[in-house]
Amino acid sequence: MARKFPVDRTRNFGIVAHVDAGKTTTSERVLFYTGVSHKIGEVHDGATVTDWMEQERERGITITAAAISCNWSKSEVVDRKDESQMYTFNVIDTPGHIDFTAEVKRSMRVLDGAVVVFDSVAGVEPQSETNWGYADEAKVPRICYINKMDRLGASFEKSYKSIQDRLSKKAVRVQLPWGSEDQLKGVIDLVKMKAYTFEGEMGMTIVEHEIPEELKADAEMYHAELIERVVEHDDVLMEAYLAGQLPTMEDLKKTLRKAVIANEIFPVFTGSSLKNIGVQLVLDGVVDYLPAPTDLPPVKGINPKNESEVERLPKDEEPFCALAFKLQTDPFVGALTFFRVYSGVVKSGSYIYNATTGQKERLGRIVRLMADKRTEIEEVYAGEIAAGVGLKDVKTSHTLCDEASPIVLEQITFPEPVVAMRIEPKTKNDQEKMGTALKKLADEDPTFKISTDDETMETIIGGMGELHLEIMVDRMKREFGVEANVGAPQVAYRETIQREAEAEYKYVKQSGGRGQYGHVKIKIRPMQPLELAEGKSLPKNITREDHFEFVNNIKGGVIPGEFIPAVMKGCKEAMARGFVAGYKMEDISVELFDGSYHDVDSSEIAFKLAAIHAFKEAAGKAGAVLLEPIMKVEVRTPEQFMGDVNGNISSKRGQVEGMDDIGDKKVITAKVPLSEMFGYTNMLRSMTQGRASMMMEFDHYDVVPANVANEIKKVRGVKDVVEEA
Ligand code: GDP
Repeated sequence: MARKFPVDRTRNFGIVAHVDAGKTTTSERVLFYTGVSHKIGEVHDGATVTDWMEQERERGITITAAAISCNWSKSEVVDRKDESQMYTFNVIDTPGHIDFTAEVKRSMRVLDGAVVVFDSVAGVEPQSETNWGYADEAKVPRICYINKMDRLGASFEKSYKSIQDRLSKKAVRVQLPWGSEDQLKGVIDLVKMKAYTFEGEMGMTIVEHEIPEELKADAEMYHAELIERVVEHDDVLMEAYLAGQLPTMEDLKKTLRKAVIANEIFPVFTGSSLKNIGVQLVLDGVVDYLPAPTDLPPVKGINPKNESEVERLPKDEEPFCALAFKLQTDPFVGALTFFRVYSGVVKSGSYIYNATTGQKERLGRIVRLMADKRTEIEEVYAGEIAAGVGLKDVKTSHTLCDEASPIVLEQITFPEPVVAMRIEPKTKNDQEKMGTALKKLADEDPTFKISTDDETMETIIGGMGELHLEIMVDRMKREFGVEANVGAPQVAYRETIQREAEAEYKYVKQSGGRGQYGHVKIKIRPMQPLELAEGKSLPKNITREDHFEFVNNIKGGVIPGEFIPAVMKGCKEAMARGFVAGYKMEDISVELFDGSYHDVDSSEIAFKLAAIHAFKEAAGKAGAVLLEPIMKVEVRTPEQFMGDVNGNISSKRGQVEGMDDIGDKKVITAKVPLSEMFGYTNMLRSMTQGRASMMMEFDHYDVVPANVANEIKKVRGVKDVVEEA
């Protein structure tokens, strides 16, 4: 079976937005117009296609990144059934809620382009900024879509300006709205210099008009601006332009496409998804400006056999390689592993090699998710996205490939949890099932972590925010039938050191029979980011893990090689126990540089204990400190409450970083420690008569001030409360 649509007619893209900007409504229209979904579900009915998880419907937020496939022919194509003009779209859903930004980050890895949706009343919102940052990191080409132009208070110009000011000066208008608020009629296309309205059922009939008189001057001005901005990206066009010659529409589009793919221009579209105005033209924009897999550089990875860098082109003839990016339990099919094929072809029933783990597994069935059905498919081709059914050992971020040509693609990195809660099964019956349920959820979501309190043996769940954990507990109940009680949310403090220190410890026991002897000298220092020259791999004597490094600098066998892993283990154990207040220590590099051993008495345990003691001593000298998560907070409030909100933020050890106007609201951005933010939503509500809104997300870890640290130590029962300067 050959592929139906060539890879250059494939678009893998995501619809990215701040909560409530209209991503769900827009996705619905996309599925409707692409003909997959024939009945349209409105968000307020709680019946949409992409939001198929129960509590997503209830909460109105999209939690999981499902990939949905559909076909699109540009709106000017008359014969909508002509496959030679059709494109394959894989729409990768990305959640808008802050507690799920890891999901967005993960999607950014596998999509080739994005449509970023904005609310024309609110303009750029904090989440749009964060997601934009992720897209910048992943160099994802983007088109912007200013939605909700029918709303009271809608302003294309203000929203456009907020994109320019807060996101990128590379944004440029390719459309203007025709009217606004309840007078919104359609859109003006600044490339074609025509106006469009959307008529009939669901706005399916697109009608072309001349640009209305009252908008002609604006349209001319912005058309000229568009040309000026585009010709900069092509020397020939630029020269002609300077000589007074305007580019043809074809050249203009071609060059604009090139510039968008190079992340040099972000074209701005507009419309109203709810009123069925403009969505089809955004889809044409996806075809015209967002890249096909073939427009992007080849994917890079490492050959695990010899550590050399290898590349794969998005071609069916290349050896197969794919990245697993999402595990999801589908209510109809079971456990799904979504993967993106970067090169080659994979067939159902074949064995795939997991280059990350070195295991082989049979890919029994492959499905493609359409809006309303799951279609079983035989083969997946280069550049496509599909899901394997029932793969057991494949996790998020694993590379699947042809065993004969192994490759490991770059891993997706996820932030560490900042909030923790104790969780306890309600009944004995729940107890048995809770472990399995939690493990499954953690497999699906790499930012959801499970651990056990060493002293109380209680289970602790960790995540990116209160809501994140709440939803996980909710899912456990719904999907696995496990009921649990949870404790109050707690801050996930960490510890680290501030400077280098050295320590020596000799563990000696001679109490009849065989003795114990282990002797180590170590240096510990804050871990530095690793900069390896191109093509170089890590020196053999360095072991790197997340937040920990071990450097073995033992010379001349003063400690035999067999005991060195025990020293590393001891240091890791000491770090896990913490030093200041019993929280996990992180980002420390330990160098083992000297020591000694005894022919008879030395053992692994003796070296491990020596390492634990030496580490503790060194940590004491290295300025060990407590770290706390600092959140980026944005509050939007009517001006009259601004003083109260600001004062309150300061009283929470917060730092106000900026104040802005958006619409009729003041926007306050601040950095506040997470420990001060529990219950803030309620506090804000009462402070502002419910008229302010807020958003919060993890920003970074910072040192806890000494007085606060002492309080934490007291609560944790740490006795030696030292007054620090
Ligand atoms: P999401 O959170 O980004 O998925 O946003 P939704 O699609 O759920 O939309 C949030 C709310 O805005 C819903 O009540 C929608 O009906 C409404 N909405 C979406 N698009 C538009 C639009 O173009 N105009 C207006 N007036 N409302 C819209």
